[in-house]
Amino acid sequence: MSQISGHTKLVMLFGSPVEHSLSPAMHNLSFENLGIDAAYLVADVTPDNLEAAVASARALGLAGFNVTMPCKTHILAYLDGLSPAAELMGAVNTVALNEGKLIGHNTDGAGALMSIEEAGNKIQGARIVVLGAGGAGSAIFTQAALDGAEHIDVFNVRDEFYDATGKRLATLTEHTGTPTALHDLEDRTLLEASVRAADILVDATRVGMPPLENESNVAQEWLRPGQAVMDTVYHPRRTKLLKLADAAGATVVEGLGMLLYQAAIAEEIWFGVSMPVELIRERVFLHA
Ligand code: NAD
Repeated sequence: MSQISGHTKLVMLFGSPVEHSLSPAMHNLSFENLGIDAAYLVADVTPDNLEAAVASARALGLAGFNVTMPCKTHILAYLDGLSPAAELMGAVNTVALNEGKLIGHNTDGAGALMSIEEAGNKIQGARIVVLGAGGAGSAIFTQAALDGAEHIDVFNVRDEFYDATGKRLATLTEHTGTPTALHDLEDRTLLEASVRAADILVDATRVGMPPLENESNVAQEWLRPGQAVMDTVYHPRRTKLLKLADAAGATVVEGLGMLLYQAAIAEEIWFGVSMPVELIRERVFLHA
């Protein structure tokens, strides 16, 4: 980290737990490399003390902050405005403080799609299947519709949010013109047919991370060369799904790419800079 002085700007991450987050390592290395006089710290914040944390951010004049689980939807109540994408997603992971106004953005979806495009698969005109409609899944399918996907199938277990997700997708289709459909993740026949027909598959469920590290939502036979397969889980880096995708000859997209690019877009919002993504990949992700 560069020398901290009276001019140093503060950027923070609010969420819980946050002590193992890679964000401080990514942003502090980037600030140092770009010569930005700023420091990035984390604070353990839950929905119960989020309002106080946001008031502190205003009072202390933070340059901005990130928000992570479990605060990404609760934060909406305390902001002055939202980017159009964050408004459609109903979740925020990046907040900019501009002339006293707190504006919420969501860089998770765009970050995920940038990492897929970097691997060589275009979003525009693609048939996309997204498994999971939590914070990460919703950000990804919303951004995919905004970016001109041809068709989006979303699969989720029939949880208490299922009907609300259906309504959110209907609004998204109305807004973007991209046809979307919500299906039950337990419907294996429909899941197989959709995955086989997809150009891009994104798993945004918790399947693949401990204690579900030996599980995959899809079978290897459903995957093929030319198809991009992304898992939002990045610990482990190579999830069961990504191992199956690799064995099937599909293009493998690790969840760390999403983490990297959501951070890069956040720095662009806060400081108008281009984060040195290759340096961060080499130095921060080496042992991740
Ligand atoms: P969330 O709690 O908002 O959503 C979790 C989703 O997983 C829901 O759709 C839920 O229905 C589904 N799910 C949970 N258990 C399941 C099971 N046993 N079988 C099938 N589906 C199940 O969480 P989130 O913030 O959307 O995160 C989802 C995943 O994405 C997590 O693994 C998280 O670590 C990862 N993530 C990665 C990044 C990144 O930058 N790479 C960013 C955010 C989240």
